Amino acid sequence: MSMSIKLLICLAIFSLLVVTASWIIQVLMSDTLYANVKQREVEQVADQIKDNLKAGNIQGLQSKVETYSEKFDICIKLYSVSKGEFDEKCSAIAMTDNILSNVKKENLEFFHRKARENGGVFQNRMSLDQRPSADTIEPDDIAVISIYAEIVNTKDGEYMMLINSLVTPIETARKTIFAQFSYIIFFLILGTLATAFLLSKIISKPLSSMNESAKQLAAGNYDVDFEVGGYREISELSETLNYAAHELSKNDNLQKELIANISHDLRTPLTMIKGYSEMMRDIPGENTPENVQAIIDETERLSELVNDLLDLSKIESGTKTFELEEFDLTLAVNEVISRYDRMNSAKGYNVEFEFDRNVNVKADKSMILQALYNLINNAINYCGDDLYIGVRQRVGKDKNGRNVVRISVTDHGDGIDPDKLPLIWDRYYKVDKVHRRADVGTGLGLSIVKKILTRHNASYGVESQLGDGSTFWFELPIIE
Ligand code: ADP
Repeated sequence: MSMSIKLLICLAIFSLLVVTASWIIQVLMSDTLYANVKQREVEQVADQIKDNLKAGNIQGLQSKVETYSEKFDICIKLYSVSKGEFDEKCSAIAMTDNILSNVKKENLEFFHRKARENGGVFQNRMSLDQRPSADTIEPDDIAVISIYAEIVNTKDGEYMMLINSLVTPIETARKTIFAQFSYIIFFLILGTLATAFLLSKIISKPLSSMNESAKQLAAGNYDVDFEVGGYREISELSETLNYAAHELSKNDNLQKELIANISHDLRTPLTMIKGYSEMMRDIPGENTPENVQAIIDETERLSELVNDLLDLSKIESGTKTFELEEFDLTLAVNEVISRYDRMNSAKGYNVEFEFDRNVNVKADKSMILQALYNLINNAINYCGDDLYIGVRQRVGKDKNGRNVVRISVTDHGDGIDPDKLPLIWDRYYKVDKVHRRADVGTGLGLSIVKKILTRHNASYGVESQLGDGSTFWFELPIIE
């Protein structure tokens, strides 16, 4: 369903609810509300008249009564009562439909009696066709008009005031409300349509343009720019998409670089193997053990490269299972270091291992040693002129207070630019964009290290000073 239709439906439902609620309040409850307001007005007028009577202000009362009557659209009559006789003192008739114009003595007696029985005040409502008489007035009559009778005793004698008012809205008021409602509903429908249309345009415009850009991105155009603008959510989404496009283009470039580098790394030993073999075939006396060893060495490099590539893809695709076992880490590291002995003596490298005691850890042994190999191989590739590579084992506590062992690999090479430090763990990332063939290692080292250590929930890191060298480290919990 399109956004505009959905918005339209939501707004239509909302408008319908508003109209229904207003309808209920205005039309269905208007009788009660109107009656209550009228009732309060009548009581206020009664209080004013009473105050005037108590103050003995009977002369000026007629004009006041006329004002009240006009203002509130009510009929008022005031009688002085003495020995069962009612003498009219004031009178103001505003409504045409009323019961006070021709009120009979028996009605006055009835009101007087009822008021006296009720502690001085009598109120009742009745429908217009039920003219008051002793037998027709019932408390639960359908309310159309109301009569209010109050007996006031002053120092000049007893008075009775009668106030007659209309307590249901008159027909014109009702018609006005209906007419108002028709207009409201009409404008509400127009407003709903316009708002739904405008909103859907405003919201969907940036989304449609983003959709176009996403299609270009899917087609491989990583330079596409997602328009940042509009609402916060939409601009956040465009920023995220811009970031995704940037990352994709970065990955794409790095992947191309990696393929170029790997092809280069594969071609070099292959060329050498071919060269040596042809030389041994064609030149008599070149079939020497040194030349055969050179072929074996290059073959080993090739299989190492292929194995690393396989490892990385297996770890990344999740097909590599990690088998945790308890083992002596110190002993295992020592074995790894001893494998560099031949290279140490042949090329002058100085790979040293320093530790205080043997510790056990629970981890995938071959994977942890693979990570260590990669760190040592990097140190060999990037070490300084002193050809020193220091592997150190330290026992201590991590930030959670657990006993951990830290293995660190230090070299005295060029170090790494602080800006580049967080990036070196990325797959394919190389600080030095010019690819050089490594003495050892394959060029995927740190991303494999990161994957292995992350899978072990192990902390890891690097400290590096430009010109001074680098120390790569990782920590594993000790099994005591
Ligand atoms: P490679 O070493 O083949 O480039 P890695 O993933 O092992 O691939 O390392 C990524 C980058 O980190 C390297 O290109 C290098 O710039 C930097 N790096 C890694 N180890 C060291 C180190 N010991 N000294 C200086 N730079 C290093």
